[in-house]
Amino acid sequence: MYCQVIVDIAHEDVDRVFTYRIPDGMQLEIGMRVHVPFGHRKDIEGVIVEITDTCDLPDARVREIKEALEDYPAVLPELIGIARYIKAHTFCTLSQALRLMYPAQMRGQRIREKKQQAVRLLLKDAAYSEGLARQKRAPRRYAILEELNGAEGHELLVSELCNRLGNCRDALRALDTAGAIEIYTRELQRKPYNEIEALSEKDPVLTEQQETVLSQILPAIDKGSGQFLLYGVTGSGKTEVFIRAVRHTARLGKTAIVLVPEIALTPQMVAWFRSRFGEDAAVLHSRLSAGERFDEWRRIRRGEVHVVIGARSAIFAPLTNIGLIIIDEEHEQSYNSDTTPQYDARVVGQQRCISSNAVLLLASATPSMRSFAMAGRGDYTLLEMPQRVHGRPLPDVHIIDMRRELTMGNKSVFSAQMLTGLTHCIESGKQAILFVNRRGFATFVSCRNCGYVVHCEHCDVSMTYHSVGNTLRCHYCGQEAPVPETCPKCGSTHIKYFGIGTQRVEDEMHKLFPNVTTLRMDNDTTQQKDAHAILLRRFQRKEAQVLIGTQMIAKGLDFPDVTMVGIVAADAMLNLPDYRSAEKTFQLLTQVAGRAGRADAKGEVFLQTYTPEHYAIQSASRQDYRAFFEAEMARRRQIKYPPFTVIVRNIYESLDEEKVHVSAQSGFDLIQAFFDRRQYLQKYIVYLRVMPCPIYRIKDKFRWEVLLGIIDIPVCEEAVGKMSEISGIPIENVAVLCQINPSSLM
Ligand code: ADP
Ligand code: ZN
Ligand code: ZN
Repeated sequence: MYCQVIVDIAHEDVDRVFTYRIPDGMQLEIGMRVHVPFGHRKDIEGVIVEITDTCDLPDARVREIKEALEDYPAVLPELIGIARYIKAHTFCTLSQALRLMYPAQMRGQRIREKKQQAVRLLLKDAAYSEGLARQKRAPRRYAILEELNGAEGHELLVSELCNRLGNCRDALRALDTAGAIEIYTRELQRKPYNEIEALSEKDPVLTEQQETVLSQILPAIDKGSGQFLLYGVTGSGKTEVFIRAVRHTARLGKTAIVLVPEIALTPQMVAWFRSRFGEDAAVLHSRLSAGERFDEWRRIRRGEVHVVIGARSAIFAPLTNIGLIIIDEEHEQSYNSDTTPQYDARVVGQQRCISSNAVLLLASATPSMRSFAMAGRGDYTLLEMPQRVHGRPLPDVHIIDMRRELTMGNKSVFSAQMLTGLTHCIESGKQAILFVNRRGFATFVSCRNCGYVVHCEHCDVSMTYHSVGNTLRCHYCGQEAPVPETCPKCGSTHIKYFGIGTQRVEDEMHKLFPNVTTLRMDNDTTQQKDAHAILLRRFQRKEAQVLIGTQMIAKGLDFPDVTMVGIVAADAMLNLPDYRSAEKTFQLLTQVAGRAGRADAKGEVFLQTYTPEHYAIQSASRQDYRAFFEAEMARRRQIKYPPFTVIVRNIYESLDEEKVHVSAQSGFDLIQAFFDRRQYLQKYIVYLRVMPCPIYRIKDKFRWEVLLGIIDIPVCEEAVGKMSEISGIPIENVAVLCQINPSSLM
């Protein structure tokens, strides 16, 4: 017997199968990881992707498999198919795609099951009394037998016995030799959620909307096919729909994956699911330790759970017999991986559904442009939940024009109106959330008097302020401009770069309300493991009345006592140099506003902005997704951005400033030469440029990029592949990374 192996080397030259002979008596299956000799190296890890009876190569040239690394296939056959799909669509090697399928620490065997030694009593009844009598003169052995006889199941951990009786390993060995007991190792499972109180929630009576939606989803699960986009406003009760659909799937003996964005995978969310599924659910997310992750993965692999809840990479959970894949907050950019392999969890999910006859359910209060457009084309069945549970009203949103505040002499971060709302909320003993968008580092220049923002003359994005050289630069075309001293529109001198951070808001809060307790949640305060969870729990327990935070507080949280939400500066996101800034702003504002008034009290949202007329702000204030979608699609079509185009970005990084520039330039020349040879592709190019990255230096490394925008039609895939291939050419001391539709263009 022979097998075809993909060796675990991420290099295009070896990106194919290699044939090995299976030694007599070795039991191997497709998907098992093995050690094989490779070139002059003695053992390299690999994955078996095929087993055959015959082999075309002369026998002398075929080497033998050395050993299997596990006694089960680490990669399910279905997931080998998915890996092949990812290789074909993201231009990575098959070995890289296969690495997605099992915990990283299994490579190089950096992690193992945690084993414990235990002892079991073998003597029963009369034999026990006899055995005990025989040990009369050996008090330690005598005690061991007594302890075991009294223990549940007649077994105990060795560590536990030693705790009770002192070191008794010699006595144990003697008893083992005598055949009175058996010493064995058993696996210890690391459980990531011991600390969470398992709430046992009762099932609520479904609302009419939930019933209607489920009446379409459940039959599809029975049938084993269907792709849905569930568009439900915040608070419409989507989670309950998920739970019922998952339970239905489990009843059919099938399994389900529920993907949620990493930051929404709060202990709240996990506890909620576990309260309904208990041991039947496994959780995978990046805050798990390597050991916990490995143990959860193996629990899933052994078929001990029906449901897996997790962030992006949980889409590769080794479940068999999948009946349902749910992707909550499907618009989240974090479902796109930015590092190789650059897969999109939504696309992988769709593929797994097709190969397993499962139902795909995407859900969001603010669907992505792409998914809503696909639903419009009929690729997905659109399901809608336009009302909140029990007719709870959507919050009132007050748009506050910050340009007027300035003319009235208010230079504080709070407008008069927001301050009134905040005071009212605090005095009535309710809770408030203040949202500050301080993401990334790019800043833009705006006029505090009229709201004017410096935009590029050639592109529909704001220009980015670079403190080095004190200039503005367009990130899309490279155009540079000086920072204006007076506003070109109104002549005011109050024109400068923008940026309010969480710290500044908290300071001002303390000045205005010295007796009010606040919590701050941002990158600085959530560095430690579980910090996120602890802060949220404190807020939930009302240890603080006001929560101040960045986008990490925007999603999925359900605080019944929050009646006021303040958005301190809606513009910070609107003016990021990113074609998706309007979409992101709309999503964020809608999600944040959705935090207010979740229980019985009506919520109020105060939204401060310098551009109150912007369509993203207007439609978000009315939670009018459709109006936003129409306006944004029209703009995207006109300026040729995704979903009409694909953006490919090759980033060059090096400590050597000269070299990184030269390397990027030659990468650019290569792609240009490629297009010169393929005239028919040229008309699809929207832009092709080489320039320094907006963040020019990170960790002492200088950064350049080659940026390609091309119409998203099949014939152009070749160009995307070429960019990827160019990025794979090794350059000494320069790292090159290829990103396709990257989530950030910094
Ligand atoms: P969404 O995810 O759509 O924003 P949630 O699933 O968080 O909304 O639901 C909003 C609130 O409504 C939650 O507090 C949830 O417990 C509650 N809820 C959902 N369905 C029902 C129901 N059928 N009856 C009563 N309460 C419900
Ligand atoms: Zn102005
Ligand atoms: Zn430009």
